[in-house]
Amino acid sequence: MADTAHTWDEECDVLVVGSGGGALTGAYGAAARGLDTLVVEKTRYFGGTTAYAGAGLWLPGNQAQARAGVEDSAELGRAYFRAVVGDATEHPLQDAYLDHAADTVAFLEANPHVRFEYRPFPDYFPAPGRADTGRAVFPVDLPAPDGAPALLAAVRPPAWAERLGLATPEGPFTDGRALIARLLLALESTGHARTLLGTPLTRLVTEDGAVIGAEAERDGRTLRIRARRGVLLAAGGFEANAELRRAWQELPGADWTMGAPGGNTGDAITAATEAGAALAGLDQSWWCPSLRFPDGSAAFTLGLHGGIFVDGSGRRFANESLPYDRMGRQLLAAKAGTSHDNPVWWVFDDRFGDELPGITVVPADRAAFTEAGLWRTADTLAALAERIGVGAEALCDTVRVFNGHAQRGVDADFHRGEDPYDRFFARGDGPNPCLVPISDGPFHAVQIVLGDLGTKGGVRTDAEARVLREDGAPIPGLYAAGNTTASVAGPHYPGPGVPIGSAMVFGHVAAVHMAF
Ligand code: FAD
Repeated sequence: MADTAHTWDEECDVLVVGSGGGALTGAYGAAARGLDTLVVEKTRYFGGTTAYAGAGLWLPGNQAQARAGVEDSAELGRAYFRAVVGDATEHPLQDAYLDHAADTVAFLEANPHVRFEYRPFPDYFPAPGRADTGRAVFPVDLPAPDGAPALLAAVRPPAWAERLGLATPEGPFTDGRALIARLLLALESTGHARTLLGTPLTRLVTEDGAVIGAEAERDGRTLRIRARRGVLLAAGGFEANAELRRAWQELPGADWTMGAPGGNTGDAITAATEAGAALAGLDQSWWCPSLRFPDGSAAFTLGLHGGIFVDGSGRRFANESLPYDRMGRQLLAAKAGTSHDNPVWWVFDDRFGDELPGITVVPADRAAFTEAGLWRTADTLAALAERIGVGAEALCDTVRVFNGHAQRGVDADFHRGEDPYDRFFARGDGPNPCLVPISDGPFHAVQIVLGDLGTKGGVRTDAEARVLREDGAPIPGLYAAGNTTASVAGPHYPGPGVPIGSAMVFGHVAAVHMAF
């Protein structure tokens, strides 16, 4: 439908919706080329889920890897990506990601505020071209405050601080917060950008099938914004929208996402759909096993160095050291931990004290978990089985078999410890460091559910980050990046940093297309 009443409250060349890694890379790319750029962000903070992230960036063959002496290239990355993702997504889209990964880093690092460094973190699949010690780069920590204190004060706090209601820590910006802070400083340094927090996009404005602007809410009124070159939608997925998660993902709701609160309810996907966009991959998320919390939420859990996962039958069903998205897919396949009716329990012995034998991005307080019934303890395995509602014989048998695997150093059932990723987090001192016996009572169990780091189905895009209609034609003036789009990785998570890395590349590509 054409919008004919062209009265505008704001005008810009490029309107960017959202303020995660893809959005700010796109905004910087446009503003650095002299385009008048406006960023609108729904919440009171910049950064979205990107600010919560470790901010590993999977960008093969980039100059930060080269500085660290890591041998990599777009070709090696392509061989690996293709081997993992195959035909699940369009090859030109995959090629655009690989071909522009290194340029994106070079372009960003040309601004003195932006700097990346290599840190080891293995790729997630055994496939040709894999980097066993990893190829991801991370933003260098940023001392705080380093200029623009008001801008930096608005960067979203770390996940653990926000979830536990604690103050944002003093000290340098690290990980995803460092990425967001650095990109904001770069954006500001262009002199061509403005940012509006608390300003959610509500709809796109079209004329003759082209997007010419958008409407957003600000202070209770509608702001009509003209965008002369285009609109970049980088407003995350729909992970916080319980209704859409039930409809598109058959999940009980949105409580277990690790996505930042208050923002990602699929608004940009809905607005683009109304403007004619085609959708794909709506059943997909960046999955992860997650620790269930007393308040009903759940927290991303990775890097197990002890314990096993058992389902309602008291049996193991997967290699617990799998990369988190692959473990999430095992939970889905086993229909375990996917609803309130099919719990999974992480069972371990007493050698870890009050700590969990793995990394949870929000720390668990044992006393509070115990009181809520989410951390159960018993002197014997049979008693623990009763406490978690699984058969005692089954649980005792599972642990006996697992302890035999640990003694021999071979997980004959699920091959735990055979992959470099498994061993990256291992701390055991037996013949297989990933297999730590469960033998020192009392015994413990905490509840694990299927969580996610964001959904990754959405609008279909092409190699120029243009949003496509059902017939495959681009919608003039409309671009998208990140979890607003149907991911270039389809139903796979090839390695650390594909979500934000690909969002940044397509943000960059969109800016180039709008500029030239
Ligand atoms: P976001 O970063 O969430 O940004 C979207 C923004 O859009 C939000 O600020 C939101 O408020 C805003 N928005 C929503 N609707 C509107 C609207 N209507 N108008 C205006 N603004 C709107 N990925 C990696 O690649 N590497 C990692 O190391 C990594 N580690 C992770 C660790 C954790 C703990 C978590 C939770 C995730 C991690 N991820 C990682 C996943 C990754 O963070 C997300 O998938 C990714 O950041 C999503 O980027 P995005 O730009 O699509 O969305």
